[in-house]
Amino acid sequence: MTQFSRFLGSLLVVNGNSQLILHGVKTMERSFSSIIAREYDVVVVGGGIVGAASARELKLRHPRLKMAILEKENEMARHQTGHNSGVIHAGIYYKPGSLKAKLCVEGMHLMYQYCDQKKIPYKKVGKLIVATDEVEIERLAELHSRAIENNVPDIKLIKGIDEIQKIEPNCVGLQALWSPHTGIIDYSQVTKQYGLDFKEKGGEIYFNFEVTKFEKSNDEDYPVLIHSKDGQNIKSKYVLTCGGLQSDKLAELSGCPRAPRIVPFRGEYLLLNPNKAHLIKGNIYPVPDPRFPFLGVHFTPRMDGSVWLGPNAVLAFKREGYSWSDINFSELADALFYPGFLKLAVKYMVAGTQEIIKSAIPSLQVKSLQKFIPSITSNDVVRGPAGVRAQALDIEGNLIEDFVFDMYKGNESGSIGERVLHCRNAPSPGATSSLAIAKMMADKMEKEFKL
Ligand SMILES: Cc1cc2nc3c(=O)[nH]c(=O)nc-3n(C[C@H](O)[C@H](O)[C@H](O)COP(=O)(O)OP(=O)(O)OC[C@H]3O[C@@H](n4cnc5c(N)ncnc54)[C@H](O)[C@@H]3O)c2cc1C
Repeated sequence: MTQFSRFLGSLLVVNGNSQLILHGVKTMERSFSSIIAREYDVVVVGGGIVGAASARELKLRHPRLKMAILEKENEMARHQTGHNSGVIHAGIYYKPGSLKAKLCVEGMHLMYQYCDQKKIPYKKVGKLIVATDEVEIERLAELHSRAIENNVPDIKLIKGIDEIQKIEPNCVGLQALWSPHTGIIDYSQVTKQYGLDFKEKGGEIYFNFEVTKFEKSNDEDYPVLIHSKDGQNIKSKYVLTCGGLQSDKLAELSGCPRAPRIVPFRGEYLLLNPNKAHLIKGNIYPVPDPRFPFLGVHFTPRMDGSVWLGPNAVLAFKREGYSWSDINFSELADALFYPGFLKLAVKYMVAGTQEIIKSAIPSLQVKSLQKFIPSITSNDVVRGPAGVRAQALDIEGNLIEDFVFDMYKGNESGSIGERVLHCRNAPSPGATSSLAIAKMMADKMEKEFKL
């Protein structure tokens, strides 16, 4: 707009009467700017479940704020949010006192309330975490204490195969934790509804807008100039980024350090033959091995009646790479030459190699699932979809477990970095926790941006 007025002004000033003409130009600029509306109080980058929930929450709290969501794809929920297990977690696993523990339990309650209110279908199918040997029984007891500490509702330790089979008639095991409030849902549908709520309150959503640069604008009312890959510009007072697999790159754009770096781990699923879907009533999970970061392959019923088995965890050769043939050499090199990844690779060399072998030979994955449902065979599965986890990794090779939020902390006062808040790590159970994360993000924005 400023360029527009300068251009118009320079054309008209040559005719004299400059004060009056410039005043007219300013008025035109204001009305034109309200028509094309490219100036916002707060812009949220990323139309996944975390970005959409946070934008919605802030807009509900402050209806007068002019807000937009910028999403690089042509619809919401195209990445992690649209490629996950669809489980509404109850908060069993997470370290007591961590943000994950707190926000998951709170998020689960909020998710059920929200879906009831909006009539979004879900199924409270429950979840069994099944121990099949003595070591796992000990770990299960620890998990039980942790779940109680985390206030997981109605969690129960059940003993013996008869009790297990009252819940899952085809499942075998020695003991199990039963979580009746764990559910399943379609998180893409939830995200699209968050987007509709946001728009209903006057928020705007731009699709196909890939943010490539934050810059200081020459407009002191809207100091952050946001550039897109295809040359569009939007000005804003403040920005929140929720970029999932791209979150470290977005953080770097506003002057934050790249670490913790995102390393993409693909999770591949197998699909159970529909004729065998009746064998599975609810979620069936192994007891996680505390030496490894992921939960282990599990049985997940889906809203459409199908059953997914998985996900495993293999390095993705592209941040948004959903199969082995999806390769981006620069992103792959970025992961492989990151000292944190090299340390992680050494630490998990054996487990990582096993995951790759299992990915190549699905019958090996079926073998680990037969521990729980002996009647399934390799003939009952076909390869299914995959998702990619945005896993933040520190320079020492530690996977960052908890949610991480960040802002420029340099010495340069007045830097635009002070106006850009980042959600840098929102791994599972990020979808379950989305409404609780959004409340926390809105609190943070109110504080940092003095809204
Ligand atoms: C295999 C798998 C299974 C999972 N299972 C579960 C589960 O059962 N339950 C659960 O609660 N959680 C689960 N999760 C985790 C959950 O999916 C994530 O925590 C959640 O989706 C994160 O949401 P997000 O909005 O941060 O990221 P995303 O959904 O990845 O959204 C980020 C968005 O930002 C956009 N973006 C990125 N860069 C830019 C840019 N430069 N400009 C504009 N837009 C940009 C992307 O296009 C994307 O739409 C799972 C995840 C995976 C991968």
